[in-house]
Amino acid sequence: MPIVVQKYGGSSLADAESIKRVARRIAETRKAGNEVVVAVSAMGDSTDELLDLAQDVSPVPPPRELDMLMTAGERISMALVAMAIHDLGISARSFTGSQAGVITDEAHGRAKIIDVTPGRITEALGKGHVVIVAGFQGVSQTTKEITTLGRGGTDTTAVALAAALNAEVCEIYTDVDGVFTADPRIVPRARKLDRISAEEMLELAASGSKVLHLRSVEYARRYDIPIHVRSSFTPKEGTIVSDQPAPKGPEGEAVEAPIIAGVAHDLSEAKITVVGVPDTTGKAAQIFHAVAAAEINLDMIVQNVSATDTGLTDISFTLPKADGQRAMEALKAIEEQVGFTGLQYDDQIGKLSLVGAGMRSNPGVSATFFRALADADVNIEMISTSEIRISVITRSELLDEAVQAVHTAFGLDSQDGEAVVYAGTGR
Ligand code: ADP
Ligand code: ASP
Ligand code: MG
Repeated sequence: MPIVVQKYGGSSLADAESIKRVARRIAETRKAGNEVVVAVSAMGDSTDELLDLAQDVSPVPPPRELDMLMTAGERISMALVAMAIHDLGISARSFTGSQAGVITDEAHGRAKIIDVTPGRITEALGKGHVVIVAGFQGVSQTTKEITTLGRGGTDTTAVALAAALNAEVCEIYTDVDGVFTADPRIVPRARKLDRISAEEMLELAASGSKVLHLRSVEYARRYDIPIHVRSSFTPKEGTIVSDQPAPKGPEGEAVEAPIIAGVAHDLSEAKITVVGVPDTTGKAAQIFHAVAAAEINLDMIVQNVSATDTGLTDISFTLPKADGQRAMEALKAIEEQVGFTGLQYDDQIGKLSLVGAGMRSNPGVSATFFRALADADVNIEMISTSEIRISVITRSELLDEAVQAVHTAFGLDSQDGEAVVYAGTGR
């Protein structure tokens, strides 16, 4: 029997009714003659609620205990989904990440899956059960502690299970019809894509498009697993994420990929400016060494040219807001050693990214992009590019407008109505 791996996000499991609806969908897949393995997220916004609760109890909770708390959300939904399937006359067994053999490194809150040993899953499938796995969690190989994979990590659990079980496909069920040319909550005229390359999806996810967890796309690419992103609220076909060429059109012609895949936005970053850095060799190395030692991942970096009379320069970079305080402390500690004159912290920034593999071979994309932003009166504070992406930093309050302007300028607006967001708070 073919194995199908499905993932249901929190927005699809918000309450008892939704859980029963999802159970019916799983039962149908089983009855259609598949072995079914399901990764589930915590119900609705319950992960955020657990986080808020932790904050109320302790401002800086120990990472081990925070992970113990966070994994509880997924354990609630796995048991409830298994019960609902059971009531439909189909046997189901739920497993925690650790029971399911999801082995990770030891980094609490952002663990990486290093192996999946699905012995208990295959055993349960062999006995005819549907298997439900708690998403976003695993167990560290070295410390034996329970870990979580970072926000949105259930997507990665699902893809890792699909790879380990040699599944035909990994279906990601969510609250929109698939991957769109922009977040439909911001651009109602966003268009659903039937297909997107894993390469482009990787850039969109890395640029803040949270419809798929970044690592799930990396994993799917490495193991060549097609991902099917679709709505749990309708039977419609969604979006296939795969680097395999698209199937030929009805007349056997190759379907040409569009130049632009989509626009992503991100409000999760902050900007730090190190002011008055002596413009001499080795200063940037000292600064970024201190930030790296605090285990902080940077995104964009800009160094301004030194004003000749002062011999001083400014260095700005962006990083996750969550790491802002740690980075500021690490930098304050080297202020005298490096000899800079000040530090500025700005969390009112937004990042907009335009992604498309066609940028490689189509000149003029950046001209259209910057013209659109200028016409929308959006000032640009930083720019960075990759082969298939242009990103800019703007004021956060201008971000939605900027995304809409760029979307329209590249002719991405849908002609047939507005995109549907079926559920969820977008939190
Ligand atoms: P789930 O609970 O199913 O994991 P998420 O909230 O994590 O759902 O992801 C789905 C949401 O991702 C959508 O509701 C949408 O607002 C957002 N999103 C952002 N960018 C895109 C995009 N390009 N296409 C589709 N959805 C997107
Ligand atoms: N429940 C976790 C979160 O909200 C994991 C997930 O939903 O994928 O981030
Ligand atoms: Mg998600």
